[in-house]
Amino acid sequence: MTATDGATRTAIITVDDDPSVSRAVARDLRRRYGEQHRIVRAESGEAALDALRQMKLRGDLVALILADYRMPQMNGIDFLEHAMDVYPGARRVLLTAYADTGAAIDAINVVDLDHYLLKPWDPPEEKLYPVVDGLLEAWLASDHRPVPETKVVGHRWSARSSGVREFLARNQVPYRWYASDEPEGQRLLTAAGADGLSLPVVIPPDGAALIEPTDAELASRVGLATTPSTDFYDIVVIGGGPAGLGAAVYGASEGLRTVLVERTATGGQAGQSSRIENYLGFPDGVSGAQLTDRARRQAAKFGAEVLTTREVVGLEVNGSARTVRFADGSAIDAHTVILATGVSYRHLTAPGLDELTGRGVFYGSALTETAACSGQDVFVVGGANSAGQAAVYLSRSAKSVTILVRGPSLEKSMSYYLIQQIADIPTISVRTCTEVIAAGGTDHLASLTLRDISTGTTDTISAQWLFLFIGAAPLTDWLDGVVARDGRGFVLAGPDLSIEGQRPKGWTLDRAPYHLETSVPGIFVAGDARAESAKRVASAVGEGAMAVMLVHRYLEKL
Ligand SMILES: Cc1cc2nc3c(=O)[nH]c(=O)nc-3n(C[C@H](O)[C@H](O)[C@H](O)COP(=O)(O)OP(=O)(O)OC[C@H]3O[C@@H](n4cnc5c(N)ncnc54)[C@H](O)[C@@H]3O)c2cc1C
Repeated sequence: MTATDGATRTAIITVDDDPSVSRAVARDLRRRYGEQHRIVRAESGEAALDALRQMKLRGDLVALILADYRMPQMNGIDFLEHAMDVYPGARRVLLTAYADTGAAIDAINVVDLDHYLLKPWDPPEEKLYPVVDGLLEAWLASDHRPVPETKVVGHRWSARSSGVREFLARNQVPYRWYASDEPEGQRLLTAAGADGLSLPVVIPPDGAALIEPTDAELASRVGLATTPSTDFYDIVVIGGGPAGLGAAVYGASEGLRTVLVERTATGGQAGQSSRIENYLGFPDGVSGAQLTDRARRQAAKFGAEVLTTREVVGLEVNGSARTVRFADGSAIDAHTVILATGVSYRHLTAPGLDELTGRGVFYGSALTETAACSGQDVFVVGGANSAGQAAVYLSRSAKSVTILVRGPSLEKSMSYYLIQQIADIPTISVRTCTEVIAAGGTDHLASLTLRDISTGTTDTISAQWLFLFIGAAPLTDWLDGVVARDGRGFVLAGPDLSIEGQRPKGWTLDRAPYHLETSVPGIFVAGDARAESAKRVASAVGEGAMAVMLVHRYLEKL
């Protein structure tokens, strides 16, 4: 098989088992269409099908397929029938000898043939080009948008399919979603040689499919760094939310060898926010995804390394080095560490919720699922700003949004501007004094049992979509015995470490801990993970920057 690159990736494919005829067809096609189209030539039906499957996985467009009728192994009609499974929209032409016109006429019904061409077609100006011109025109008038980005084929209600989509979205990797039970999804699975039992299947732009990939596999295939380039740094920043990204930007821009290590995708909680309205410099608001994308590019521009899908599970003090250990057992050392691990969503323990998470029940992932719940009734649990923002965002496409809140009103827990926005949207309603006590459904969420806290009465309602925003906790157990934390797991720093003027236990330096320094010199904390922090994007970014300033001070005295 040979191919010639044209100006676009739209292809015309031709298959004929006679090499001289095959070359002649390709030559004639290239002469007239070679500038706008890639002409792909094959000498058997099997080879042409292989080429079509590869092109499908890469997201190439195929406008026209010309097949010779008389070929050994697989004749032209059988080939076109298979080709239709891969590219149903491509126009189909059968090349026949005069004696085979009967077969060609039959093929009009079998493979929905657009045309049959009698061989030889000389001169092509009269017999070939007018036919091909007409077919290309018809193809152009139909829907033929290119799909060069990553494709995800999965089951609608599968938790892992939902997880993969969220991972790609949070890492700003453009992708297109295909349900495995829809024709195009099935075509992609066939092209990838996948049986459809192991899902999701992810097809990156290079066309090599990944079956049920882990986040780490996905990260490396879509071009995200996962391994450190060296084993010693000035700063290891743990966590890629606003605080961590802020620290990485300032650290790298000030010439410090900086690596940021993120467990999942950069952006943290802010990355999941549909619109941050109160961040300085964005009077019209900014989505968490936009802010994250800019911050990550800014960090990379200054030379910070940003690793994703790497979870830190241990931190040790080895003399003046601080050792950061990853979940796979490997480690890196640094002069200093900035803990920017933020907080994670608390999970509700009501029966049924765990089993249905990712299948109608979501924690803080309202953005990825918006399209799926378009035109439907949606429930949001929580009374804080994150729940309010999600309700406003979901109301743009959902039929109705019901906010379920345990308290008697939103006033105590939500910002005034959001309460006003919610009041102005007629499709959002607020159900106060209400808690979810059970969820039902097999493949997908089907019902919720709600309890009215004031009366104790319960009520089971039909529900397909539930988004929970019920507060968050720092996941810092892995820091136990390393740095001092408060009773809820938040990391203590600076003045909060001193009890009645005493330095923290084990502190050996003459000076007191710096403002964001933990109970171990050279280990700092920034953002939501810090005890008494403000829990705002701006303060997290600010603390990230300030921690770097303190790192400089620490390094000067090392
Ligand atoms: C939906 C939503 C909307 C919000 N809207 C606003 C708003 O409009 N305005 C505002 O000011 N604030 C808002 N907030 C709050 C704001 O997003 C947070 O205060 C801010 O993100 C805190 O930043 P952070 O970097 O400290 O932590 P986080 O954003 O929590 O980021 C911490 C990161 O560390 C990673 N991590 C944790 N543990 C590890 C580990 N062991 N190894 C590696 N990585 C790890 C996590 O995966 C995460 O990416 C909102 C929050 C949410 C959830």
